[in-house]
Amino acid sequence: MSSEELISIKDLKVHFPIKGGIFLREVAKVFAVDGVSLSVNKGETLGLVGESGCGKSTFGKALLQLIKPTSGSVTFNNDELTDLSKAKLRQYRKDLQIIFQDPSESLNSRHTVEQILMEPLEIHKIGDSRNDRKAIIVSLLQKVGLPADSINKYPHEFSGGQKQRIGIARAIALEPQLIVCDEAVSALDVSVQSQILNLLLDLQEEMGLAYIFIAHDLAVVRHISDKVAVMYLGKIVEFTDADNIYAKPLHPYTKALISAIPEPDPFKEKDRVILKGDVPSPIDPPSGCRFHTRCPYAQDKCKTDEPELKDYKNEDGSEHMAACHFAGEF
Ligand code: SF4
Repeated sequence: MSSEELISIKDLKVHFPIKGGIFLREVAKVFAVDGVSLSVNKGETLGLVGESGCGKSTFGKALLQLIKPTSGSVTFNNDELTDLSKAKLRQYRKDLQIIFQDPSESLNSRHTVEQILMEPLEIHKIGDSRNDRKAIIVSLLQKVGLPADSINKYPHEFSGGQKQRIGIARAIALEPQLIVCDEAVSALDVSVQSQILNLLLDLQEEMGLAYIFIAHDLAVVRHISDKVAVMYLGKIVEFTDADNIYAKPLHPYTKALISAIPEPDPFKEKDRVILKGDVPSPIDPPSGCRFHTRCPYAQDKCKTDEPELKDYKNEDGSEHMAACHFAGEF
């Protein structure tokens, strides 16, 4: 793993206006992403975890500029992506790819695998001839573990896991540097999940890829991530390397997500942190600490004062950021 920074996101905000009244004026805002700063090094995996509705997918799309951020900065290989024109941004599409949760929806059902994989190659003028491109497609299928005769088949002829392999083949077709995996294994059976995770790890080693791996389940990101960021209602509440986030979580929300991971040994005692209710609306987030309405340890201060994201350092001196007035005291 290289420690060279590939992408740096600073204070990224995505606020969606809600319009109402006869003049369709802005009456409220959805604070989907509200000041997120993160970075990913070349060849590294950042796991981004939180419940549905926490803003993770919006963040993933905003950093790829598939959604226009309201403010903030995204620097990729030292270029500021938020300032680029559409034409310039198109050149970056090659380096920045995404794999979606539901391969059935993201693959055109009327196109064969050949047509699906041919499209990005043609747009970006990879290969000198159609035969060249066909050879690239066959090697892509081989890389993702699909037989060569898949080329003439349609998406409905494949299982969910195989469809996701086609989605991965499309994402790696242009030899990107970073892939955002947006709940890429969430719709798959557990056994298929691990096959796809292993494939992503093999491709990372072979191609030097970096991933931002978005999931609602901390168990899924455990084996794939170098670092993990936990997001709640549009903000990062904890961030550190993967080992320390599981061994020494500092934020009650992270503890709750960890305690929700099923324990293989049914007789092992587990310190459970049960979350009350659902994630509040991002239209009107709670005052103070956004987590106070569900936090089992909330005190008066939590209702009024927003905790800063501070570095509490791991024992080895590495960074361990958490946003809680009582971080690590539970
Ligand atoms: Fe819970 Fe208060 Fe910490 Fe927020 S600041 S996580 S409400 S203890």
